[in-house]
Amino acid sequence: MRRKLAAGNWKMNGTAASLAEVTALIAAHPAPRSEMLICPPATLIAAMAQAAAGSALQVGGQDCHANTSGAHTGDIAAVQLKDAGASHVILGHSERRADHNETDAEVRAKTLAAVAAGLTAVVCIGETEAERDAGATLKVIGDQLMGSLPDTAYGKEVVIAYEPVWAIGTGRTPTLEQIAEVHDFLRDELAIRFGTAAAEDFRLLYGGSVKPSNATEIFAIANVDGALVGGASLKAADFGAILSALDAS
Ligand code: PEP
Repeated sequence: MRRKLAAGNWKMNGTAASLAEVTALIAAHPAPRSEMLICPPATLIAAMAQAAAGSALQVGGQDCHANTSGAHTGDIAAVQLKDAGASHVILGHSERRADHNETDAEVRAKTLAAVAAGLTAVVCIGETEAERDAGATLKVIGDQLMGSLPDTAYGKEVVIAYEPVWAIGTGRTPTLEQIAEVHDFLRDELAIRFGTAAAEDFRLLYGGSVKPSNATEIFAIANVDGALVGGASLKAADFGAILSALDAS
């Protein structure tokens, strides 16, 4: 059985004062059925990991470099995230693909580095609105999935997040049928590449304007194993409500 995962992406938001939100989250959800993860800015990873010590909350990074060390000013190695207390890292988020021109090949190399460092990689893929309008969604998603995953990807170490670019931070979401279509397609593609049994181990998250009001219906979709949540993860009450919906699904 795949354990469901509620993952929060704080993006470039939060300072030390924001740790009060995770303290509240931990207090309200001492033993969730689902895995609970927050990926704060790198500046907060160590402090958040300390605040979360002994609790069910896990802490992750939002990116890592493919190398383990070296002359890469401003970058962070996967081993350094691990050293700071992270257990996961988001890779290939559409904002990084857009802002930093990250390619599938780079995401694949980062995924290998993350897994080698003992982190769970949360690999993001998703189509733009123009690609969906052109009827190219499954082709785009399929290509990103294949290009971003190394041959050695294993469901216990790699999570896939389907995030339509046009749904991120916009308040718009695909229909439930559209989410189901993509998630079923992803499971099938994973089975073709890794075999049916191995494909069942991968958790498939949906991301893009998930909030307490739409979480229950999204989590009722087969092959949705949780969510990657941006804006609504910044407030303990909202993220906690999404986590509760996942626990109840
Ligand atoms: C995200 O950035 O991963 C995301 C899903 O953002 P939001 O929930 O704000 O749409």
